Amino acid sequence: MLVYKPITLGPLKLSNRILMGSMHTGLEEANDGFKALAKFYAERAKGGAGLIVTGGISPNRRGALKPGGARLTSRRQVKDHSLITDAVHKEGGKICLQILHGGRYSYHPFNVGPSNIKAAINRFSPRSLSTRGVRKTVRQYSECAVLAKEAGYDGIEIMGSEGYLINQFLVTATNKRTDTYGGSFENRMRFALEIIQSIREKVGKDFAIIFRLSMLDLVNDGSSWSEIEILAKSLENHGVDAINTGIGWHEARIPTIATLVPRGGFAFVTQKLMGSVQIPLITTNRFNTIEACEEALASGCADMVSMARPFLADPEIVNKSKVNSNAVNTCIGCNQACLDHIFKNKIATCLVNPRASHEDKWPRQAKANVIKRVAVVGSGPAGLSATIEAARLGHSVTLFESNAEIGGQFNMAKSIPGKDEFNETLRYFDFKLKQLGVQVKLNTRAEIASLTDYDQIILATGVKPRKWTIPGSDSKEVVSYIDVLKGNVAVGKRVAIIGAGGIGFDVAEFLTHDETSQFLEEWGIDETLAERGGLKEPMPGQSNHHVEIFQRSEGKVGGKLGKTTGWIHRLQLKNKGVITRKCVEYQSFEQGHLTFKESGIEHRIAFDTVVVCAGQTSYAPLLDGLRAKGKSVISIGGALSASKLDAQRAIKEGLEAAYEISPWS
Ligand code: NAP
Ligand code: SF4
Repeated sequence: MLVYKPITLGPLKLSNRILMGSMHTGLEEANDGFKALAKFYAERAKGGAGLIVTGGISPNRRGALKPGGARLTSRRQVKDHSLITDAVHKEGGKICLQILHGGRYSYHPFNVGPSNIKAAINRFSPRSLSTRGVRKTVRQYSECAVLAKEAGYDGIEIMGSEGYLINQFLVTATNKRTDTYGGSFENRMRFALEIIQSIREKVGKDFAIIFRLSMLDLVNDGSSWSEIEILAKSLENHGVDAINTGIGWHEARIPTIATLVPRGGFAFVTQKLMGSVQIPLITTNRFNTIEACEEALASGCADMVSMARPFLADPEIVNKSKVNSNAVNTCIGCNQACLDHIFKNKIATCLVNPRASHEDKWPRQAKANVIKRVAVVGSGPAGLSATIEAARLGHSVTLFESNAEIGGQFNMAKSIPGKDEFNETLRYFDFKLKQLGVQVKLNTRAEIASLTDYDQIILATGVKPRKWTIPGSDSKEVVSYIDVLKGNVAVGKRVAIIGAGGIGFDVAEFLTHDETSQFLEEWGIDETLAERGGLKEPMPGQSNHHVEIFQRSEGKVGGKLGKTTGWIHRLQLKNKGVITRKCVEYQSFEQGHLTFKESGIEHRIAFDTVVVCAGQTSYAPLLDGLRAKGKSVISIGGALSASKLDAQRAIKEGLEAAYEISPWS
């Protein structure tokens, strides 16, 4: 396989072509965070990453992404970084520091930019850098690179994409300067080139420099393709060893890494630059399997592939895939526990691998001191997680599932358009159940009597849909989301969805999905890259249903969806003509008409089908009986509480339960 073929990147000889891409974890700013980061990166180096790039570290205070955000500006910080480089080198890995100046994206009042133009996604306006300020910033980049070398890094990556400072200098939309750093493209790219030149002069030849170049800005007045080519060639001439691909500014209203982006869906962009430079090109975005990386390399899209989130999901993705890719815990592109956490100022971890960033808390090598007979009831995400972790800790585990297949709510989630990655999570769990020798009892409803022989019972019996009761809600037209997603009922043309949570939105997506719609067309991405920024008129698919979503509360409809993905779901449905209604009081559903008040005004609208997505209630029918028998029982996931339940909480509680029942060493 090409993935496992060694490659030379400047002074570095890499054993394979997979780069663990930069990802901020929040540990960079946490107490004792560098110790945790050392463990985090060491696991990934051991797992086979050809080269690792750290999360972005600023070369000065103004460039930090938030107040107190990580920067490398003095000798005192070198010791912290050495913890990381030592740990990675001990595992035979290689690691580069990413230098990132946020420019106008830095979320604090001291931010700066090429011009004082505020970003739509930041409430703080940047101050325009003076010419002296630009030169000082160039110097600070090179000082940061020198410190990185002192800390033992094998090289650096200069973040020149995603709309950060260097990218802001490159395009006229954000650079209105009249000095030698603005105006012509030659002037606009001067900042980037001076940074590289000054770094190369200071660090010498035996230190790798990667530049992350925005090859598709996805914003108006972005770079043109010819400018991108000129910059790439100039970077090569100035001593850059490899070019990584950047796709989309953070303010772009086009999804670039969410689940609905096809795997490797932007590799065509890097491919367009192949041959223009002699140094290795790295492609990126929505690669989550080594097979997809292999395909991109084999079809000549790039020389290397970068993946970031898949290394959170499974630190050993590279090594495991060499032997058996079924063993890989695959990133599903949900963003729920990684990017959403970062935006909430929490430590990034992973929905399918809550151990990520907490390697010390639940060590992989831990084994239970006392082996128990454990029964897990329910094979949804919580039950599956508890099962495989308890079995890995050494317990003898039996999993009870009343249905014919494992998966619980995941079986519905995987049927939602754009969420088929859930199949991978189920494939992984299935593999682990077999690998760990778990006894799986499908089509078996656990009863008190069948559980009395076990030392420990973990109840993961999940949730029941909440009932919706108004006059007429027992009509045949009123159905549950479960029946809709399982295809048990015919859904009419005009549909009302009661409840605007994650499931209400999922059902709306399910009903309005257009099979013929293509990602690039739907979102208006110009594959020919003929226009600046790579934008063209979007062509949303056509829906076969007229859909209206209702909620009783006041807030934004869909406002509680994921921080980094909610906007995509809201925009997608808006583009399909879905109507959203808030401040609703339901009155009746009679003779095919829903009567309700919206902000006090009464409406009576005809609907063929009403789909109830009004949340869930906890379902734990065995709990009291088992406790009465004096059994040791732990409830997790929906069986514990339906409030704020999602797959992330469920999987984490499964892991926690397994460790809770297992004093370990
Ligand atoms: P949810 O997020 O709690 O939403 C329930 C919806 O039902 C709310 O819009 C609520 O709005 C409404 N509702 C509550 N009680 C009602 C009642 N008695 N009558 C009528 N409407 C009522 O629950 P969910 O949509 O079932 O999702 C369950 C969990 O899975 C959530 O944690 C969710 O985040 C997660 N999930 C996430 C995604 C994702 O994309 N990230 C996808 C699917 C599921 P009002 O009270 O304002 O009417
Ligand atoms: Fe991937 Fe979701 Fe895990 Fe993030 S939280 S690494 S997107 S599976």
